[in-house]
Amino acid sequence: MPWHRQPGVDRERGSVAQDGGDPSVSPPATGPVLELRNVTRSYPGDPPVEALRGVSLSIRSGELVALAGPSGSGKSTLLHVMGTLDRPTAGSVWVVGHDTTRLRDGQVSGLRARTIGFVFQQFFLLEALTALDNVANGLLYAGTPLRMRRSAAEAALSRVGLEHRLHHRPTQLSGGEQQRVAIARAIVGRPAIVLADEPTGNLDSVAGAAILELLLDLNRTDGATIAVITHDHDLAAAFPRQVWIRDGTIERDNAEVAA
Ligand code: ADP
Repeated sequence: MPWHRQPGVDRERGSVAQDGGDPSVSPPATGPVLELRNVTRSYPGDPPVEALRGVSLSIRSGELVALAGPSGSGKSTLLHVMGTLDRPTAGSVWVVGHDTTRLRDGQVSGLRARTIGFVFQQFFLLEALTALDNVANGLLYAGTPLRMRRSAAEAALSRVGLEHRLHHRPTQLSGGEQQRVAIARAIVGRPAIVLADEPTGNLDSVAGAAILELLLDLNRTDGATIAVITHDHDLAAAFPRQVWIRDGTIERDNAEVAA
């Protein structure tokens, strides 16, 4: 059975509606999966730091996007705001058609859990758990029964090439393998979008290139929508869409050039 047709995670791409959660939380058929409208984010201080200054950005289902820029340009702030981990100071953040700035914190967490998968530079795996259970935990929020969670996790781990490492703990895995586990955890629930923060930043160049190839393949073969934050020009250059950030604004977006 293809990994993405596992029972309990048989989500139509971009759809989030059959996990016992809010059935109204499904994306409009043609709308963006993620959209920022004139977003600003300032950090208090004297003077305040304007980390994002009027960012508008729209990502559609099936896109593979690099959000690139130098250190201090606002990339991490952007990722946190896009991922609804942080609220904008002004402007709005729309996830599968929902204006998250109008939702309460609990509603935002639920929407986030069902629609956004995260991959971080530091992997953030639980050391005490096997690869299988780290990934199965990615479905905890959806209320999927344990056996189904494990079977979906096994399929996702196979998808990232780790079918032979199911019962290993993170300390028994290489950095590249740990990042594959983290990617399996991010995709196991078929999120509408995966946000990856410097996913190759802690890896050597060979392992990093393999992770990049995996992300490209998840997009090409499975149609996964993926946005990757990076300061690495070479990494960004491998992506069909590149959004360049500087001083908290979008300096260039090649999707707009093409449009
Ligand atoms: P990047 O990820 O591209 O390095 P950041 O989003 O981390 O950029 O930072 C953008 C700007 O916001 C920088 O000037 C940074 O110093 C500032 N900044 C980030 N986080 C905070 C914070 N918690 N408090 C104050 N300033 C911050």
